[in-house]
Amino acid sequence: MSLPTLYSDGIYKARKPHRCCECGATILPGQEYFRADGLWEGSFDHYKRCLPCVELADEVLEIERAGRVHEEEMTCFGYLFESAHEYGILDEWKRSKAIVTTIKEEPHE
Ligand SMILES: [Zn+2]
Repeated sequence: MSLPTLYSDGIYKARKPHRCCECGATILPGQEYFRADGLWEGSFDHYKRCLPCVELADEVLEIERAGRVHEEEMTCFGYLFESAHEYGILDEWKRSKAIVTTIKEEPHE
């Protein structure tokens, strides 16, 4: 994917449900999420990421910057997990996320 000719992003508060373009999780109304709008090769696209994926994306970006990866070769939207897996940080992220989201079930009678 080439670099967008127009681009803006930021953290927004969801007014309706959205789907994270990386993990597929539903972003519920009232939750904060990352949104990027841009013009890629002549067409407008919007990408949304849930906050846990934003954290992972920051780590991936740090690794790519440290490794002096060319800007055009950097991870694009929808490919975050592939890069995170390649850099060996995906499993740890999944584990840390599981700790936060684990809900204990009551034992069955
Ligand atoms: Zn996500």
